[in-house]
Amino acid sequence: MARPQRPQEYYDQIKDKFREERNLRLGYRPPGTDQYTSELSGDLAKYAIDPYAKDVPSREPLNDEVEVLFIGGGFSALLTSARLRERGLESIRIVERGSDVGGTWYWNRYPGAACDVVSYDYLPLLDELDYVPVNHYSRGPEIFSHCQAIAQKYNLYDLAVFNTTVTETRWDDADQLWHVKTDQGDVMRAQFVICANGTLAKPKLSAISGMESFAGHSFHTSRWDYDYTGENLEHLKDKVVGIIGTGASAVQIVPELAKVAKEVYVFQRTPSSIDVRDDWPTDPNWARKLQPGWQHKRREKVLAAVENSLEKRAAKGATSPEEKLRKQENANIDYMMRIHRRIDEIVHDPATADALKPWYMFMCKRPCFHNEYLPSFNLPNVHLVDTQGQGITQISPQGPVFDGKEYGLDLLIYATGFEVQQTGIYNDIVGAGGVNLQDKYAQGIRTLLGIHTAGFPNLFIMGGYQASFQFNLTEMLQTQGDHIAACIDYVRANGHHTLDVKDEAEEWWVQNVIEHRGKTSRSEECTPGYYNFEGNEQRRQDGNYNGGFRQYFQHQGQVREKMEENFHLVAREN
Ligand code: NDP
Repeated sequence: MARPQRPQEYYDQIKDKFREERNLRLGYRPPGTDQYTSELSGDLAKYAIDPYAKDVPSREPLNDEVEVLFIGGGFSALLTSARLRERGLESIRIVERGSDVGGTWYWNRYPGAACDVVSYDYLPLLDELDYVPVNHYSRGPEIFSHCQAIAQKYNLYDLAVFNTTVTETRWDDADQLWHVKTDQGDVMRAQFVICANGTLAKPKLSAISGMESFAGHSFHTSRWDYDYTGENLEHLKDKVVGIIGTGASAVQIVPELAKVAKEVYVFQRTPSSIDVRDDWPTDPNWARKLQPGWQHKRREKVLAAVENSLEKRAAKGATSPEEKLRKQENANIDYMMRIHRRIDEIVHDPATADALKPWYMFMCKRPCFHNEYLPSFNLPNVHLVDTQGQGITQISPQGPVFDGKEYGLDLLIYATGFEVQQTGIYNDIVGAGGVNLQDKYAQGIRTLLGIHTAGFPNLFIMGGYQASFQFNLTEMLQTQGDHIAACIDYVRANGHHTLDVKDEAEEWWVQNVIEHRGKTSRSEECTPGYYNFEGNEQRRQDGNYNGGFRQYFQHQGQVREKMEENFHLVAREN
């Protein structure tokens, strides 16, 4: 049945409301990204402590040399290592802050943690590990175990060092190796270094006045304190719990708290859009029939479906770029209004239902999917504190204060997200001739494919800016890992020692990024959030490559076809 045609005024009025809500929020937070702090030191140091690293054995500092060193032990390192091993590379070291591999899935062990991308697409290397996920969507523990299984299969534990943070990565012009220092006093040398430290790795807190004075217990979602809550949250039965933030983490946590805690207060600044997320066990008959190469074929199909999305289909037949944009926008507004109707159908109290409605364009914020989040607000022990764009700005020793009311809590959970990396690096990276990467980037990020940056030989950056965006992050990381492994293989197979991108190749990519970022004004029109740097002005090159994932993948291949044209490739000087 054809969809009823609505007049354009209907959509224009909704867009006006989007603008109004956006401006309301921007008015409350002029500091943009500076409203947050990820400098978790002094009074805030407790929020960074790893609650999962128990009885860490001490070790002597290392002073040795490896071929490839990864900063970080999450999917970036695991996927690239797998490909390096397949190409015969033996000397691989992971240096990881946590006490095991897993990255995101090591840290995010909060109750209800699960992945919103279908497991058969998200969990990587399923063919290689001969593994089929248990459910259509994987829960956190299964993904963490899968990371460990990859590390075991490819012997990545042998040389790995855990509970160790890299503090400096410096190219030594004399011996033409990277010298990597850590907070454990190590000085490791490596021919190749791969910054594999994740896109959303560093927890951040909203800088709220008085937060240090809170007398109850508190932690960040990525440092869940099971000693306090109990493994099954059983210690929360007589506790009043508050959670600040309503992003993807909180949406998964709130239903779990709601089932157990005495009272739950959800402090909301901007609602998330919550769509259906049905789940079911994997059909064993289907799993049994899977043929080698099945995951790759599946991902291809999913990509084709995304390219043929509702938004794109809506724009078909448009006679001008303006009409195309309008049709796409209208399709997105239809989607958001369906999300509103879903809230009205589920949430009983009309005022609470209204407060839970997101007023922004689809994809301005990360869309969420959950079947239990909205029904939680029908429970008598769950209370939504809607701050209407303002957010919590004050915390007393008893708890958050809003609109003159103090909310006394036993436990306060910060679901306030993660710092979005600017460069793919967190330690001091110094390249050839003593140039600091931060100084090089001061006038704007400069890379080829978001992976290589001139003057930093044999350094590779994963998951950083100027790379493509892909909702299924592991697929994006796998293409980068494949590319990096092929580059390293090329260097080794052709008797070279270093690879450094040429200035012209880097300039070509920077211009490519700028050109594609110019195609949409969506980011400026969106409600603030980490997708648009909290509404801050941003240099055009300091973001993702928006030319499409498939095109990004093709560019990787084109770059590798002309290695000598794109890179300085140099043999080791004796
Ligand atoms: P987000 O950055 O998405 O959310 C932070 C939340 O904190 C926002 O709701 C923000 O409000 C709110 N906030 C910040 N300061 C205040 C304040 N002072 N008062 C009230 N609220 C405040 O972090 P998450 O940890 O939820 O998610 C981060 C990302 O991790 C996700 O976007 C997703 O990419 C990933 N993730 C993926 C999952 C998956 O299934 N694959 C599951 C969980 C997370 P506002 O919106 O107004 O800024």
